[in-house]
Amino acid sequence: MSHVFPRHTRIRPPIAARGEGAYIYDNTGKAYLDGSGGAAVSCLGHSDPDVTAAIKAQADRLAFAHTGFFTSEPAEALANRLIAHAPEGIDRVYFVSGGSEAVESALKLARQYFLEIGQPTRHRFIARRQSYHGNTLGALATGGNAWRREPFAPLMVETSHISPCYEYRDRQDGESPEDYGLRVADELETEILRLGPENVIGFVAEPVVGATLGAVPPVPGYFTRIRQICDTHGLLLILDEVMCGMGRTGTLFACEQDGVRPDIVTIAKGLGAGYQPIGAMLCSDTIYQAIEAGSGFFQHGHTYIGHPMACAAADVVVEKLTTGGMTARAAVMGGKLDTALHTTFGQHPHIGDIRGRGMFRGLEIVEDRATKTPFAPERGISKAVKKAAFEAGLICYPMGGTIDGRRGDHVLIAPPFILTEAQIDELTGKLSAAFAQILG
Ligand code: PMP
Repeated sequence: MSHVFPRHTRIRPPIAARGEGAYIYDNTGKAYLDGSGGAAVSCLGHSDPDVTAAIKAQADRLAFAHTGFFTSEPAEALANRLIAHAPEGIDRVYFVSGGSEAVESALKLARQYFLEIGQPTRHRFIARRQSYHGNTLGALATGGNAWRREPFAPLMVETSHISPCYEYRDRQDGESPEDYGLRVADELETEILRLGPENVIGFVAEPVVGATLGAVPPVPGYFTRIRQICDTHGLLLILDEVMCGMGRTGTLFACEQDGVRPDIVTIAKGLGAGYQPIGAMLCSDTIYQAIEAGSGFFQHGHTYIGHPMACAAADVVVEKLTTGGMTARAAVMGGKLDTALHTTFGQHPHIGDIRGRGMFRGLEIVEDRATKTPFAPERGISKAVKKAAFEAGLICYPMGGTIDGRRGDHVLIAPPFILTEAQIDELTGKLSAAFAQILG
């Protein structure tokens, strides 16, 4: 018997034994094509020798030095590398061990910023329904996934939620994408005015919505309007790129493609590429200077922040993503993946929408394509697709349509950027067989 506390107590998963390129092998030797990089994590695949060499070298040199006493060479190098490629105005990096910690740090930094500049009444956040920002309590409060939130309500961080930018479901007949974007962005202003701007800290959003909607990008102009509204009312714009950042959408930061300037941006998953647990919160110099001029101390911290081995691994990952050309490869292979998905599923009677950017793609499964009616949640369609695909040796990341009883099931495709054209064919072939088995 196993003493590991598993995710699902009634499911005993296979034992992962080794990884090579785009594949994970279990201890019986069965190969699984990693079509979702786990959960959009393994951007470089599973056996990158440069990353593992950097980890080994750093382990020999210095595994750990507490940030209460030291910074470290890998942390300094990684921060410099990230800032050299970060959106305009982003100037400082705070390292943590994962996505939820990055979001939690962002929420606390944003609150402390307003305390430092003498606006203590600002204490609320606004975020979007059908979003996910992590499972710790603050991140859970900003997330808009009702199924995850409800068991723990009331949550301590006061957050209200507006509509996501979800064109497939919500753009009305005859409405242009731009008009639709302005309409949903303007919900932010309505909510700020309802709460009183003096009570609101900031707006939290994923540029491309990952787990909860399945790779849904915004329409053109949406984030421009969001930025304007934040500026008008003195809010901070916090972009959560934990899943969509680090080259996943074909640019290092997803928000580059929307021309939007965040005040704080969070990253994780692809930063360590699965080789080490690491996340980061990046912020503007304005925020940093407010802390510097005020208390001089960000009232936060964890034992493992800025872990030298994690930073050493991530420094090689980001080098590969930038000068090494892997983000450019994600853009090119992502285009090929998109073409293959459209060719294979474009006419499928139960695939309502194929969307995404770069190596971040989503398929929305519906019962009726014409009316976009989802399958009843009790059918458990996305779970069944996941199971059938996994048995056939394909890892993909599905989510069920239980969030508001209106959204369809979806499958998220987020493979390593090293994927070859032959592996794209293997992915679409296995997914097609899984759909045939489950959807008929
Ligand atoms: N934000 C987003 C957008 C995410 O997708 C996730 C993880 N799926 C998180 C935050 C939380 O990250 P972690 O699981 O590393 O805590």
